[in-house]
Amino acid sequence: MNDCIFCKITRGDIPTKFVYEDEHVVAFPDLHPKMPVHMLIVPRLHIATMNDFPNEPALAQSMMHAVQQVARDCKIDANGYRTIINTNADGGQEVYHLHWHVLGGRAVGRMVST
Ligand code: 5GP
Ligand code: ZN
Repeated sequence: MNDCIFCKITRGDIPTKFVYEDEHVVAFPDLHPKMPVHMLIVPRLHIATMNDFPNEPALAQSMMHAVQQVARDCKIDANGYRTIINTNADGGQEVYHLHWHVLGGRAVGRMVST
């Protein structure tokens, strides 16, 4: 047991409608969407950052598959979308349980602010 908000969501302590789930990952809407479509893809395993991603091909495969499925289900696959992983302070990471943002529904704009 831990206080991690995404662990609480993935194990069902906070009722959340998953738009995708499999053995390794779940996907659900971001609480504060930055785009018309803003989904988070989150491993069930508590992994703090991308630096801690395990050498686990099945998990990597699930993450990739989840991106495809979420994009298709949200109907942003054809027009396009952006997938973001923020890592540590310079990356702007706020929640220290690895997650991939999937953003779309309109043109996302510049890749980064400079
Ligand atoms: P980060 O900056 O860590 O990459 O992004 C964290 C994201 O998690 C933010 O976009 C924020 O809105 C989202 N978030 C934070 N707490 C919750 C929550 O309790 N539920 C959901 N669905 N999203 C959250
Ligand atoms: Zn966690």
